[in-house]
Amino acid sequence: MQFCPKCGTTLSPQKKEKKVVLSCAKCGYETRKVQKSLSTMQQDSEKIVVIGREEQKIRTLPKTRVECPKCGNNEAFYWLVQTRGADESSTQFFRCTKCRTTWRENA
Ligand SMILES: [Zn+2]
Ligand SMILES: [Zn+2]
Repeated sequence: MQFCPKCGTTLSPQKKEKKVVLSCAKCGYETRKVQKSLSTMQQDSEKIVVIGREEQKIRTLPKTRVECPKCGNNEAFYWLVQTRGADESSTQFFRCTKCRTTWRENA
């Protein structure tokens, strides 16, 4: 839940040009920071497939000791993805350094 910095009213998500912004019903304030698009929210369960796009970034990701569910290797890259609105917790993803299997940790 986020609040309007001007008047303190609860901000509600509004669909705008395929994006979702948080806006204040009372004073009309809108967040400049654009939330995830509606399509991204709807395809949340498929997000793990989309991770491939982040491939290049992953090379610089930190590693942690966690067991790969596929090959049993105990080292994986990890990163956090905010799955929904800012009021919900983010999901931790892992990628095995050996077989490159990617999986998510359900909070
Ligand atoms: Zn306001
Ligand atoms: Zn593995």
